[in-house]
Amino acid sequence: MKIMAINAGSSSLKFSLIDMDNKEVLLSGVFERIGIEGSNYTLKNKDFKIRQEEELTDHYSAVKILMEKITELKIITSLEEIDGIGHRVVHGSDVYSKSVVITDKVLEDIIKFSDLAPLHNPANVLGIKAFKEALPNTPMVAVFDTAFHQTMEKKDYLYPVPIKWYEEYNVRKYGFHGTSHCYIAKRISEIKEKDNLRIISCHLGNGGSVTAIKDGKCIDTSMGFTPLAGIMMGSRSGDIDPSIIPYVMEKYGKSAGEVIDDLNKKSGFLGISEISNDTRDVLEAMADGNEKCSLAVDMFVKSVVKYIAQYYVELGGCDVIAFAAGIGENNNLIRLKIMESLAALGVIADIEANNTNREEKKISSKDSKIECWVIPTDEELMIAMDTVELIK
Ligand code: AMP
Repeated sequence: MKIMAINAGSSSLKFSLIDMDNKEVLLSGVFERIGIEGSNYTLKNKDFKIRQEEELTDHYSAVKILMEKITELKIITSLEEIDGIGHRVVHGSDVYSKSVVITDKVLEDIIKFSDLAPLHNPANVLGIKAFKEALPNTPMVAVFDTAFHQTMEKKDYLYPVPIKWYEEYNVRKYGFHGTSHCYIAKRISEIKEKDNLRIISCHLGNGGSVTAIKDGKCIDTSMGFTPLAGIMMGSRSGDIDPSIIPYVMEKYGKSAGEVIDDLNKKSGFLGISEISNDTRDVLEAMADGNEKCSLAVDMFVKSVVKYIAQYYVELGGCDVIAFAAGIGENNNLIRLKIMESLAALGVIADIEANNTNREEKKISSKDSKIECWVIPTDEELMIAMDTVELIK
C-alpha cells in the first residue's frame, strides 16, 4: 500500500509518500511560501534532491505540481497507486478521540473547530480540499494532534476557572503533538515488548510538549487550550501568570492580540537570549560566553524537568523517559543537563551513549532507576499507519 501523509500549513505543504509494505519513503518534500513571493518546492528521496523556484498561487497549484512530478519522476506509474491520503489536522476538539475517514461531516467539523485553532485548522482544510480536487476517489483520513490526549480525565483537563467557560465555550486543556507522543509510546512498547509501561514522552522541537503515558494512554500533557502552554519553547513562553498580559498591555500600550503574539513569537529561547529561537544558535552563543543564552538554556532545562518531576508523581513512578524532535533527538548537551537535573529520581546518564545523536538509543546507564531513550519521532509514518488502518 502506498500512502501520502500531508501536513498543510497556511503557506506551506509538507508531504511524504510512504510504501507501507517496507516503510520506505518513496518521495518527500515541502512546498513553501505558497501564495507569497519567492515560492518554491523541494522534492527528495534516498537517491536525489530537487529544489525549484516556482510560482505557487495556492494549495491547489502546489498539489497539481506534486501530482505531475510524482509520475514524471517515475516514483509511481499512475496516481491510482496512491491508496490513501492521511492529513495532519491540529484540532479535533473533544469530538474526535481517534483518526477518522474524512467525510463531508468531518470536514465541516474541522472547519468548525477553527475557532479553537485559528492558525492551524483553516490551513489543514486547504490541504484537504486541494487533494480532494486532485484525487477525488482516493480515501482520505484526518489524524488529529489532539486525539491522543482525549484519554485525560476531567480533573486533568479542566482549568480551575468558572466551569461555565468549559460548558458553554469548550475552555479546557486539549494538548497537542499527540501523533508524535503516540508514536513514541508505541515504539517504546515495541522495544520493551511490554504494554503496561509508565512513559514520560518529551517532544522537544521548536514547539515542545511533555506527556505522561500510562499503559499506552495519555494521562496528562503540558500543552493546554492552545500550544502556548507548558514548557518554554523556541519562541513561545510556555506557562506564565496570566496577569502579566493586562499589565504588559498597559505598560506598552499593546492590545491583547499583540501581547499574545509576543508570547507566541517573541518569547521562549528567542525572548531570553535575544539571539534566536533556534537552540543551535543559542548554544553557539552560549559557548562564546553569552550569559543570556546560558540563562535561556538553564530555563529551558528547568521547565522540562518540572514537568517530568510532576508526571513522575502522577504516574506513580516512571519506566522510560523518551526524548524526541529537533532538540530531543539532536542535542546531547541539553539531554544531559535534563538527565543530571533528575538525579533525585535516580536517573543516571550513560555519557558515551548520550553523545550519539539522531539514533534510536538507550542513553541512561544500567544503574539508572529510569531508562532514558532517544526515539526519533516519525509523525508522517504514524499518520500513514492510521490511514492504512482506516481504509483497509
Ligand atoms: P522540530 O520542531 O522538531 O523540527 O525542531 C526544530 C528545532 O530543533 C530547531 O529550531 C532547533 O532549535 C532544534 N535543533 C535541531 N537540531 C539541533 C541541534 N543539533 N542542537 C540543538 N537544537 C537543535
